[in-house]
Amino acid sequence: MAENKIPYKIYLEENEMPKKWYNVRADMKNKPAPLLNPGTHQPMTAEELGGVFCEELVAQELDNDNQYIDIPQEIRDFYKMYRPSPLVRAYCLEEKLGTPAKIYYKFEGNNTSGSHKLNSAIAQAYYAKKQGLKGVTTETGAGQWGTALSMACSYFNLDCKVFMVKCSYEQKPFRREVMRVYGASVTPSPSMTTDIGKKINAEHPGTTGSLGCAISEAVEVAVKNPGYRYVLGSVLNQVLLHQSVIGLETKAALDKYGIKPDIIIGCAGGGSNLGGLIAPFMGEKLRGEADYRFIAVEPASCPSFTRGKFAYDFADTGMVCPLAKMYTLGSDFIPSANHAGGLRYHGMSPVLSQLYDDGLIEATTAKQTEVFEAAEQFARVEGILPAPESSHAIKVAIDEALKCKETGEEKTIVFGLTGTGYFDMVAYEKFHDGKMDDYIPTDEELAQYAAKLPNID
Ligand SMILES: *Cc1c(COP(=O)(O)O)cnc(C)c1O
Repeated sequence: MAENKIPYKIYLEENEMPKKWYNVRADMKNKPAPLLNPGTHQPMTAEELGGVFCEELVAQELDNDNQYIDIPQEIRDFYKMYRPSPLVRAYCLEEKLGTPAKIYYKFEGNNTSGSHKLNSAIAQAYYAKKQGLKGVTTETGAGQWGTALSMACSYFNLDCKVFMVKCSYEQKPFRREVMRVYGASVTPSPSMTTDIGKKINAEHPGTTGSLGCAISEAVEVAVKNPGYRYVLGSVLNQVLLHQSVIGLETKAALDKYGIKPDIIIGCAGGGSNLGGLIAPFMGEKLRGEADYRFIAVEPASCPSFTRGKFAYDFADTGMVCPLAKMYTLGSDFIPSANHAGGLRYHGMSPVLSQLYDDGLIEATTAKQTEVFEAAEQFARVEGILPAPESSHAIKVAIDEALKCKETGEEKTIVFGLTGTGYFDMVAYEKFHDGKMDDYIPTDEELAQYAAKLPNID
């Protein structure tokens, strides 16, 4: 084994944990485009957004100026139960690959929800409670966000109504059960309990749902029930802000040992973990203080960055949510069955979309089977059973490390290991049995959806 000066796990002390979130928008020259009212196409005002989201979260959503925002003590106390998350030096993976590269991963799977989503769930539940609300509604695809939110709501004694995409409701009964442990009610979507659900069921009988449908249902219930607001687990500016805790901890841990990363890699679904992981490093790059390569990895079956359009689009199928300017495949796009459930959203965070358009982030895709090969390679040497989503980042980290092997460069690579894969064993089973396919949408297919994008500059 190489030098062992750097420990396997770099932990921070409690008093070294971030006390403020970092808002990368403050350092962006080109700000992300504002959310638009779906009816008038004018920028959403705080008042309009307040009908759907909690007040304090609306303020965070619209704040393009303040570099730092205090993390309230109650949230910091909750964070202390499962944070700081470890930054692990992947010595065993390096050795297995025979690479001179130094690989680190920030592991966010060390909590019951099994992913980074709890970082924002607890913040959103806190602000809902502070506003005196009764509860919140949301959607969940693969189930990680719903689980995280139900944990956060039970902590603050809030009601939590989750619309779960029907196919995962049926495929992942144990995820649903975890949510019920924490007191959430879980409804398969599209359901017959909302107007939009009834409409979707009538138009597409037997549909197994999509994230876009579930969002529309959750928003409808929030708007119709006094004392309820809607919360979302990714894409929004506020979610990236909360997830900056990942990057701030990573940076503090690396700084302790004087380590400067060369490449930072994350999987990208709606962009929240990647946005959070890279935030403080991107800040340095934007301010001209340092340079890094940032790589977003998306599934080849849902390639928003690499093959999508940068345009205003609906966030949901029912077209009730504000319009967001983002890299998108079109709100009707339903990716082929893909086991990285958390990466199947048609759009991408407006913040990351702007940074990508400005050439500050790179993006690449990975095919399903090669992602599972990387996952297994990683699990066998590093021990952790990774989520399929996270394994997209593993795949590209391994590729970059192998490039270093060819060139002899000792680059430092950091990637986000967003979660664990215990609820994804059906996917691992398909992989082992050779039943996993690598469907990639054709240009014609994508053009069909892109043609339906609303026409707004
Ligand atoms: C939800 C999820 C993702 C993708 O969401 P982002 O908002 O893009 O971070 C990635 N990994 C895991 C484990 C998830 O649960």
